[in-house]
Amino acid sequence: DDRLDGKVALVTGGSRGIGAAVAIRLATAGADVVLTYQHSVDQAENVVAEVKAAGRRGLAIQADSADATEAVSAVERAVAEFGRLDVLVNNAGAAYFGTVEDIPVADVDRVLAVNVRGPFLAAQAAARHLPAGGRIINIGSCAAERGALPGLTLYGMSKAAVAGLTRTLARELGPRGITVNTVHPGPIDTDMNPADGPAGDANRQFVALGGYGQAVDVAATVAHLAGESGRYITGAGLAVDGGFAA
Ligand code: NDP
Repeated sequence: DDRLDGKVALVTGGSRGIGAAVAIRLATAGADVVLTYQHSVDQAENVVAEVKAAGRRGLAIQADSADATEAVSAVERAVAEFGRLDVLVNNAGAAYFGTVEDIPVADVDRVLAVNVRGPFLAAQAAARHLPAGGRIINIGSCAAERGALPGLTLYGMSKAAVAGLTRTLARELGPRGITVNTVHPGPIDTDMNPADGPAGDANRQFVALGGYGQAVDVAATVAHLAGESGRYITGAGLAVDGGFAA
């Protein structure tokens, strides 16, 4: 049973792409949904409108995951506005492509702040509120599991850290009945990684199923983990990658 009636979910980076699909999917399953975004206020409000069209409460919060105060206050505000928090989806992420010798330290800091420190801080804040049955779902990447392409050293390192966060946090929160998992998308057709973009063919060569996935494919697995159906899955990394890491 994947119903989430009466539950509250927070999805970081919910204005576009995978996060938007997750927000709408969780609302369809019955959850009230808070989402964060960085710049895209109009698209964030469009997602909130879809959440409300599904009959649920929705709220968009501008919060840069790279900013420690904003990352934490988004969690606190979700609890303050909707009264509880059951599901945290750490989805906001920064893509990065660059030859390792040429990556400035400021970029290292920025990518680690968005992809690693932000999810850690949000999980830490959420852990203070999540009840038994709570869920933390981190969006990793197939680049954490397989270093298929050069130029992804920084990004792959950051997403491998997400997988490590997931495993250790699952041990820590398991006794409270809270599960923690990573979903590792493969090439998913979004603004970050358009199927018809310059990296399209390079990505496709590694996909067993031959082509890109859609944001809804990732959202379906997130919903499975979020629901009662996911109750015995924790500390795991689930690939939704068309066989990229196979
Ligand atoms: P998009 O670039 O399409 O969307 C990113 C979303 O995250 C937007 O809503 C954006 O907000 C938000 N966001 C970005 N940076 C921040 C930030 N610093 N603070 C708050 N919100 C932020 O990305 P995808 O949907 O493709 O990716 C989502 C996740 O999936 C990421 O973690 C990514 O690394 C991962 N992933 C994606 C893959 C793919 O092929 N697409 C493959 C593997 C992993 P705004 O609209 O305001 O900019």
